[in-house]
Amino acid sequence: MRIADYSVTRAILDRHGFTFKKIFGQNFLTDTNILQKIVDTAEIDKNTNVIEIGPGIGALTEFLAENAAEVMAFEIDDRLVPILADTLRDFDNIKVVNEDILKSDLQTRIKEFSNPALPIKVVANLPYYITTPILMHLIESKIPFAEFVVMMQKEVADRISAEPNTKAYGSLSIAVQYYMAAKLAFIVPSTVFVPAPNVDSAILKMTRREQSLVQVQDEDFFFHLAKTAFVHRRKTLWNNLTSRFGKSEEVKAKLEQALEKADIKPSIRGEALSISEFAKLADALKEAGF
Ligand code: SAM
Repeated sequence: MRIADYSVTRAILDRHGFTFKKIFGQNFLTDTNILQKIVDTAEIDKNTNVIEIGPGIGALTEFLAENAAEVMAFEIDDRLVPILADTLRDFDNIKVVNEDILKSDLQTRIKEFSNPALPIKVVANLPYYITTPILMHLIESKIPFAEFVVMMQKEVADRISAEPNTKAYGSLSIAVQYYMAAKLAFIVPSTVFVPAPNVDSAILKMTRREQSLVQVQDEDFFFHLAKTAFVHRRKTLWNNLTSRFGKSEEVKAKLEQALEKADIKPSIRGEALSISEFAKLADALKEAGF
């Protein structure tokens, strides 16, 4: 029997008198086939360290610990710590860290793995209310994670993996795809969770690129430009740029010059620009003095 078998999950919740907290995005997985599929997708072996975010009662943690060298699981809810000590008592390769992942100093934490030299993968059924901040926190930590295999709301998975000229494409697609190649692995129905969320879920596999997708002079400015272009999605690129940088004749002349250099029409919308066009425009704007 597994923690994720519905009857086992129910018995654990009852034994500990656990009640779900919506503010922590608690939807626990009760499908062992899906858990096996997540582990297979992540291609974890005994030479892989794993970081899990939000172990809950340990449904996924159990599968991860069986396959990985070590698992470090960050859980914000204090009430789950004694439950995890109970459900995962047979494992000696799991460390539960009772911490908010967004406040954790990951660079310091990863030194606590017995063998910190092993590749690290992030595998998790994420709390949906903070999916984007968690991914940005992981990326910004500058830790060379080999891969993220994470469950999230399907709509967010679509946004991250989106291509230009689609409704889902935006600054989140650009921020993640700059560092990682993102691929939707499979869809998960809401019926396999307790309680069932009211959205569809998906597993997204993000693999770190050896080199960022495009090379830019100033990364911060590039990401800033990507956000600027999508501030008002229905507006043209020109309107978003002038709203952000100003409408004086001098600014407009410089913007025109940069757009021409990057070979981009001011009348298009931000969603039509590929990531490499954003990079070209960011460099041209920098050269024009922005
Ligand atoms: N992994 C379990 C499963 O699949 O059944 C639980 C997944 S549940 C969707 C999300 C988990 O993340 C919950 O256990 C919740 O308490 C935890 N969590 C929520 N916010 C967190 C945060 N900021 N840092 C760490 N854990 C968090």
